[in-house]
Amino acid sequence: MVKIASNLARLGDENAFSVLARAAELASQGRDIINLGIGQPDVPTPPHIVEAAIKALKDGHLGYTPANGIAPLREAVAADIHRRLGVEVDPGHIVVMPGGKPTIFFAVLMFAAAGAEIICPDPGFPIYRSMIDYSEAQTVPLPIREENGFGFSADELLERVNAKTRLIILNSPANPTGGVTPEAEIDKLVAGLEKWPEVAILSDEIYGQMTYDGQRHKSLLDYEHMRGRVILLDGWSKTYAMTGWRLGYGVWPAALVDHVRRLAVNCHSCVNAAAQSAGIAALDGPQDCIADMVSAFDRRRAFVAERVNQVSGMRCATPKGAFYAFPNVTGTGWNERELASALLEEAGVATIAGTDFGGFGAGFIRLSCANSQENIAAAIDRIEAFLDENRARATA
Ligand code: PLP
Repeated sequence: MVKIASNLARLGDENAFSVLARAAELASQGRDIINLGIGQPDVPTPPHIVEAAIKALKDGHLGYTPANGIAPLREAVAADIHRRLGVEVDPGHIVVMPGGKPTIFFAVLMFAAAGAEIICPDPGFPIYRSMIDYSEAQTVPLPIREENGFGFSADELLERVNAKTRLIILNSPANPTGGVTPEAEIDKLVAGLEKWPEVAILSDEIYGQMTYDGQRHKSLLDYEHMRGRVILLDGWSKTYAMTGWRLGYGVWPAALVDHVRRLAVNCHSCVNAAAQSAGIAALDGPQDCIADMVSAFDRRRAFVAERVNQVSGMRCATPKGAFYAFPNVTGTGWNERELASALLEEAGVATIAGTDFGGFGAGFIRLSCANSQENIAAAIDRIEAFLDENRARATA
């Protein structure tokens, strides 16, 4: 019997992928499944981006590229950041990655020494915790609370910082809650961290262009004096509906760029050359595709919150960002995990249990708005009917 390393037992998973597979399996058996589990836009990548990749392939961009990404792409990223956030970034500090996830992987690897503590949101994107648990560092969950509108509390975060803290992971707008942390709270955190100059921040801003009700996204890059310790994560997956292309980037502090470049060389050498050309077309081309997608999400998230709040036993905060709603299901009497499973198997609605995003997700399920309003409406009708018909089975 082979003997694998024991830390593999601590490596987690992303249940959204299992739900996606199960939903596809049920659909292939002829079942009518509405998928509100999926975390990817329901529109195709805009055609001019696809064309740019085809052209790159035809033009012979078929080989390795520099590990940190081709210079024109990193320049396009810097220009985009300047346009959107009014912040100057050195293209030399940008490292292009195969998706958003590797920046998480490498940032955690970089700080996860034995005895180190890393703070991450709970509920939060499951890969944060999975990566930290896999490493030698200790995960310190930061509760993300419904009563705070699913923004993080700077006070609660600062209470968790100590001499062992090496990295804080932030995510606003947030998956799975749709929460957006108010600017004042981020200001307070940044002020509180002055006492802890050795603590780095990984700010996952992959949903940064998806905010509603006129709320502006506040980037951690906005704090000039924090640049030496802020890693920004962003990418094309959500903003340009490019999840399958595997294209993302990190903006790294000067002192860390070469370390992450070496991690990239060791791991994947470089990102697919044609995908990088597509990334330039996305950033340099027309941006109305984003506005169209975000206004569709805006209408749907308002609809989801209003409709879910009519369902007996459920209540739903109106999402302020991203494209997820995170309804509280405690009033239904169902445990969120059993409910999510029964909804998929019996009612034909794919959702994700809140506890797939951490222990503080207990009592919640995640609904993705990446489906037509018609399908979302039908899904919530099914959930309501299922709950009405199965009150006696409520298990929580
Ligand atoms: N960060 C957050 C908060 C996400 O929700 C996701 C994807 O769902 C990612 C990062 C990873 O993005 P990618 O698919 O580009 O790796």
